[in-house]
Amino acid sequence: MHEVDVAVIGCGMAGLVAARKTSEAKLSTMVVASGLGSTVLSSGTIDLLGYFNGRNVKKPLEVLGDFVSRNPSHPYAIVGRERVLEAFQEFREKYDSFIRYEGSLEINETLLTPLGLFKPTLLAQSSIMRGTRENLEGSKVLVVGFRHLVNHTPALIARSLREIWGVDADYVKLDRSEAQPVPLALLLESNSEDTIKSLNEHNLGSYDYLAFPPVLGLRRTEEIIHEFEDSLGAKVFETMSFPPSVPGLRLQQLLEKPCIENGVEIKLGWQSTEIRDTGQGCKIKIMENDTKQEILSKVVIIATGQLMRDTISIKDENGFQASLNLQAGEYFKTDKEMRLVFNGKTFKNIFAACSAISENYMTGLGTALCTGYSSAVEVIKYLKGY
Ligand SMILES: Cc1cc2nc3c(=O)[nH]c(=O)nc-3n(C[C@H](O)[C@H](O)[C@H](O)COP(=O)(O)OP(=O)(O)OC[C@H]3O[C@@H](n4cnc5c(N)ncnc54)[C@H](O)[C@@H]3O)c2cc1C
Repeated sequence: MHEVDVAVIGCGMAGLVAARKTSEAKLSTMVVASGLGSTVLSSGTIDLLGYFNGRNVKKPLEVLGDFVSRNPSHPYAIVGRERVLEAFQEFREKYDSFIRYEGSLEINETLLTPLGLFKPTLLAQSSIMRGTRENLEGSKVLVVGFRHLVNHTPALIARSLREIWGVDADYVKLDRSEAQPVPLALLLESNSEDTIKSLNEHNLGSYDYLAFPPVLGLRRTEEIIHEFEDSLGAKVFETMSFPPSVPGLRLQQLLEKPCIENGVEIKLGWQSTEIRDTGQGCKIKIMENDTKQEILSKVVIIATGQLMRDTISIKDENGFQASLNLQAGEYFKTDKEMRLVFNGKTFKNIFAACSAISENYMTGLGTALCTGYSSAVEVIKYLKGY
């Protein structure tokens, strides 16, 4: 039996942001997760609102009011504009570590995707943010590829840059046997000289930018970029990626780091099957392989994302019983204080934070970030009174 103040179910963006914040407030916090969710698979760039009414959004905060009035059940409407802003600001402050996120909170930048298109986003890892459309326009770009790397086609990116966006671009493929991005990133983390040597065999003199797939290390990305820039004489950036995604893995590790530093236990492979709100707190049933575990907590934050496959049974002290089942098209509803509302019943000690609150309009990591932040703010208010 484990006893904590806060049990968080799910270790994606929403769960880890919530756990970091409750543990900072000196609430003992445990995270349980059946596995890794979509955060680790994602491109790692954080959207607040990239598209609305069929158009790219340039200034997301300017259209947020209109967006929430048309989507009144969207998490941004529940959380409110002020907290959306606080959540993004706090993300910038608290997660400035081995990876740095860049971007103004006012303006979406457009960044290069692995298809050679540009996608609007608010925050991105600095290695990716260097390759905005604005920077590339009027520049000469060499798209660097690795011969066996899956899901990366430098010829396609270079052609799109030339034909769709009018950017002068060529490509080159370097010989490397790694087919998967994570092993290649680990290789470059320990040895970047071989790649520099191979690139120096090409005539790089006329290129302003070298566009790499996002494999420039896991924890040393900034250093590797500087080594490349000093040796190759051109600016270096990473494009966005398909899964499996090194920037997604960097983000996952970045989110876990302060939790671990604050003493949060993260239990992977722990699947929550039942949560009973007793009115005084919660009892959570867990399956770990074939072993049963139980957690007693003052509150639970459900942060199970949209990929949740396993039904969680929810009960209360008065015999109310329901099943949360996203596969059946059910989404989480919360009240303004982020408490779970199900079949008209509000649970006193169960809060929700994740992309599964987003019913109609998917807004990606921004939703998970804001709901994770907001649920933790409400839990701290409830348990600590401030
Ligand atoms: C390929 C891809 C690319 C993307 N690109 C972008 C992008 O460019 N920009 C953007 O903003 N967003 C993007 N997204 C969306 C973004 O990744 C998600 O919206 C976000 O990661 C959701 O975070 P979350 O914390 O809500 O859920 P998740 O990260 O999915 O985490 C859910 C967690 O809950 C756990 N869980 C589920 N059920 C249980 C249970 N019963 N018991 C215990 N644990 C459980 C899971 O194991 C997991 O740990 C992308 C997604 C994908 C898949």
